[in-house]
Amino acid sequence: MEPATISSLLQNAVKNLQARSDTPSADGEILLAHALGKPRSYLRTWPERLATPEQQQKFAMLLARRLVGEPVAYLTGAREFWSLALKVTPATLIPRPETELLVEQALVRLAGIGLPRILDLGTGSGAIALALARHHVDSQITAVDLSIDALVVARQNGVDHGLTNVDFQLGHWFEPVAGRRFHMIVSNPPYVAEQDPHLNRGDLRFEPRLALSAGPDGLSALAYIAGNASAYLEPGGWLLMEHGYDQGAAVRQLMEAAGFVTVDQYVDLDGHVRLSAGRCPV
Ligand code: GLN
Repeated sequence: MEPATISSLLQNAVKNLQARSDTPSADGEILLAHALGKPRSYLRTWPERLATPEQQQKFAMLLARRLVGEPVAYLTGAREFWSLALKVTPATLIPRPETELLVEQALVRLAGIGLPRILDLGTGSGAIALALARHHVDSQITAVDLSIDALVVARQNGVDHGLTNVDFQLGHWFEPVAGRRFHMIVSNPPYVAEQDPHLNRGDLRFEPRLALSAGPDGLSALAYIAGNASAYLEPGGWLLMEHGYDQGAAVRQLMEAAGFVTVDQYVDLDGHVRLSAGRCPV
């Protein structure tokens, strides 16, 4: 293999990625930094350095996989969420920036509660549970997932960040917490409609269906959680759920029908209603 500099490797990669990715520069930089085992800033600091043949080979492999669509986060095994570097695998959804809205609104509501007990349903990589655990060290969080493979990743993320106030449980939604009550339930459940063409595009093709889609209208998990949550909440407890950009009205209806009062809705960075927060009667 011909010796090549960091800048030439990057330039070539970005050129190839242009036709296949919406974010060719970022993808190229993240993958090259990963192949070199260095932070991204290294690429700009040392553009003239030569990569070793092993590094070049590793980069070529990563690039080939990216060119057939594999998400960058699965190629590097990592994604940042709420300033936490999280491990992700194809068993977990890749944490999205819009989900930080849920964490933000959860923290606002937790501010007034002393030792909050929180339930995270469908925790995936543990993103929401761990972000809350980190910022609310007095909280006791139970994080549930139906996928054992996802829970292994979530547990590891907890260990990596030294967060001991999250208890990870395997099971179907409320099943592992029978008879318990929480001050808050949070969830980013699957909410994409089963026939939605987006499932066959971009990163979603590689993500677990279980974490993405739920029923013909995408509402079945949201309806199940909204319909059952009050039995697991303290009086005045909160339910916060992320949902699809066009599901705001339906989710409000589901929450109101289940007896939640003061349903507040929040808009994500793209201007879509993405989060609903309802309160149980006091
Ligand atoms: N926000 C994701 C998407 O549409 C879906 C995540 C989910 O179903 N919880 O790409």
